Amino acid sequence: MNLLYKSTRSNEKTATASEAILKGLADDGGLFVPTEIPKLDISMEELKDMTYQETAYAVMKQFLTDFTETELKSCIAEAYDDKFDTGEIAPLVKAGENYYLELFHGATIAFKDMALSILPHLLSVSAKKNNVENEIVILTATSGDTGKAALAGFADVERTRIIVFYPKDGVSEVQKLQMVTQKGNNTSVIAVQGNFDNAQSGVKAMFENKELAEQMKNNGFQFSSANSINIGRLVPQIVYYVYAYAKLLKNEEIAEGEEINVTVPSGNFGNILAAYYAKKMGLPIGKLICASNENKVLFDFFETGTYDKKREFILTTSPSMDILISSNLERLLYMASGQNADRTAELMNALKRQGAYEIDESMREALADFEAGYASEAEVRETIRSLYESTGYLIDPHTAVASAVCSRYKRAHKDANKTVIVSTASPYKFMGNVMTAVDGKYAGKEELLLADELEKISGVEIPAAIREIMQADILHRAECSVDKMEETVKQLLGIHE
Ligand SMILES: *Cc1c(COP(=O)(O)O)cnc(C)c1O
Repeated sequence: MNLLYKSTRSNEKTATASEAILKGLADDGGLFVPTEIPKLDISMEELKDMTYQETAYAVMKQFLTDFTETELKSCIAEAYDDKFDTGEIAPLVKAGENYYLELFHGATIAFKDMALSILPHLLSVSAKKNNVENEIVILTATSGDTGKAALAGFADVERTRIIVFYPKDGVSEVQKLQMVTQKGNNTSVIAVQGNFDNAQSGVKAMFENKELAEQMKNNGFQFSSANSINIGRLVPQIVYYVYAYAKLLKNEEIAEGEEINVTVPSGNFGNILAAYYAKKMGLPIGKLICASNENKVLFDFFETGTYDKKREFILTTSPSMDILISSNLERLLYMASGQNADRTAELMNALKRQGAYEIDESMREALADFEAGYASEAEVRETIRSLYESTGYLIDPHTAVASAVCSRYKRAHKDANKTVIVSTASPYKFMGNVMTAVDGKYAGKEELLLADELEKISGVEIPAAIREIMQADILHRAECSVDKMEETVKQLLGIHE
């Protein structure tokens, strides 16, 4: 079967998977979605004994139907190799009564590596398939983790350039160091004088700018996106939910067909949307629990049916979730409206014009699979400390948001389902806040100096990603204001009007 993709905002055109990956965003500003979500065509009995790479092939081939077996398998082999510090790629660790799905064993020790390790390869195959002559320019706004993971994925990949914008004061010291020390002749990293949403809006505006696209073309360039709106990011993320379920089954933690819940620390809504797609494929998932930090726009949306981004932007200790516009929610709205592109476009227009929208009762009913919660900064600290004290297992603040929300859900509901908590970053990536949560005596200490101490108390070896930034040179110092982003890109590419 040949699966096609279409925009969430109109029904006119369809695209193949490779075309959708190349474009990132549909022409009308909508996001690409599969015209239908395929049912898993392989049994749990078979999946149970598969490696991560085999599982990836089994799942992804159902979505990327215009990739040949050889193409897809080679993308998978190049992505999920020894860049990951464990052969399991995404290990499942039981701590207390929950299972933590550790998605932080890649090059940048956070979950974005799961998709960004493979996206450059999917993109490069897609370019060949579609006879693209232009150099592909990856333009990314990052709240911290995407930037480095994309830089690492694309560095020195032929016929590509990557330009990353990050909010100057909105990322952690480790995140910043990881980005500004990035090597590669095709990499640029720029600090934006604004927050993540400013940076993301600036990037979106460039993608939607027809005049700029024309100037790019005349100079032999075309944009593509590595942000989580790219379907080439979403599809690889479905894999680890299937893998986690199969592992629970193999380890006899659950019986065949038994429903599990998943709790996902959410920001742009890509990770949890992948879990929703996995459920739609037939994976026995009960509740999808969406966990927010104090920027709880998603929690409010699920509680009230109103999405309202007009609110104060709060800087928290889980910066990758400090987001007020959750782009991937658009794909969920599309599904909840019964794949109604006009309705989805209306809602997105309202968001753009009025900064808010409200969904109707029937759409709210269609979201019954979701639960939502949020955790305050105090709860995050307390969750890190208490889990560590009771189990010895140390989690990062993003994962702690999910863990806190999961506990609250369990207190409030009689739900016997076992829960997988998605663990999105290594505690080493945010060691200042993690160590301070464990013991106040670490407060204010220089972050990188805490690595040895963290190693001692957790028994988890310091990852290579941390060792590297301790020595690397700073290679990127550029900075620009929000309204100079386009000019900066043109300068970097040598485009003159
Ligand atoms: C990106 C990120 C998230 C949020 O994931 P979304 O797919 O944007 O919802 C959570 N935790 C970490 C560490 C991240 O990097």
